[in-house]
Amino acid sequence: MPGNIQRDRLKPERTQAFTQVLEQSLHTGYTVLAEGGCSIDAVIAAIVVMEDSPLFNAGKGAVFSHEGRNELDAAIMDGTSLRAGAVAGVTTLRNPIRAAHAVMTKNQHVMLIGQGAENFAAEQGQHIVDPLYFYEQHRWNQLQKAIAAEQIALDHDIDDDTVAENDEKHGTVGAVALDRKGNLAAGTSTGGLTNKRFGRVGDTPIIGAGTYADNRSVAVSATGTGEMFIRTAAAFNTASQVRWLGRPVADAADHTLSEIAVIGGEGGLIVLNTRGEYAMRFNTSGMFRGVIHNDRIAHIEIF
Ligand code: ASP
Repeated sequence: MPGNIQRDRLKPERTQAFTQVLEQSLHTGYTVLAEGGCSIDAVIAAIVVMEDSPLFNAGKGAVFSHEGRNELDAAIMDGTSLRAGAVAGVTTLRNPIRAAHAVMTKNQHVMLIGQGAENFAAEQGQHIVDPLYFYEQHRWNQLQKAIAAEQIALDHDIDDDTVAENDEKHGTVGAVALDRKGNLAAGTSTGGLTNKRFGRVGDTPIIGAGTYADNRSVAVSATGTGEMFIRTAAAFNTASQVRWLGRPVADAADHTLSEIAVIGGEGGLIVLNTRGEYAMRFNTSGMFRGVIHNDRIAHIEIF
């Protein structure tokens, strides 16, 4: 999704690579909806495509923590029932978004962390991988750079030469969807921040911060400096503005982002209501984003 993507540093072949995965993600999610599937399944399908790609800071392309581990977070929420599921700090789950869904549907709790989440996911037949599956050289280089600079950073904020060369400046992934029955869902998946320590967990798996869905307002997925998204309850905040103040979705997103900016944060939000009105807003220089409607054409934008 978002970040300080520099127009002049983003090479055409990299743009092409990201665009291709985003298109695949949009088409995969849309196919679920076109076949009469529910918004939750569409969100999962769309996110799995991005988790399986090394390009994004989620699943296969996740950033490294200070200890050199890939600690993944994800959440999903169903706007019809307000049911939600999340996992945090997991290191062996190939698709954390599927594990979050298993928590939502097969467990009485909302959030499971670390080893416990992994044990539960294994019991549920989730795909377990060796932590080495997540190793990507450019992410490792980003960590070394961040450690040297004593920096804890969004993956796209590290000014690593290798990174700049490869234009690897793209983060957390998320999806929102509206199905034929008029039901909303939202999901988000991330590796968090490069060089994070001490079991740090960001906004992504926190319901109301990085992820939220309620048919009475909107579905929201967020990306950015997680601490500020937690402190502003960004996703719920956006939903509440739509629900209680009647704000258009774009205005609500902008309002939330400006509150985040006031406390020193940055990032982006994707927001969708049951009328199909949506907004993809950010206060960074760019955010890879896309939308697909009934015409089945994937529209992708960066800046
Ligand atoms: N929001 C994520 C986190 O703070 C990071 C990101 O969006 O790239 O963990």
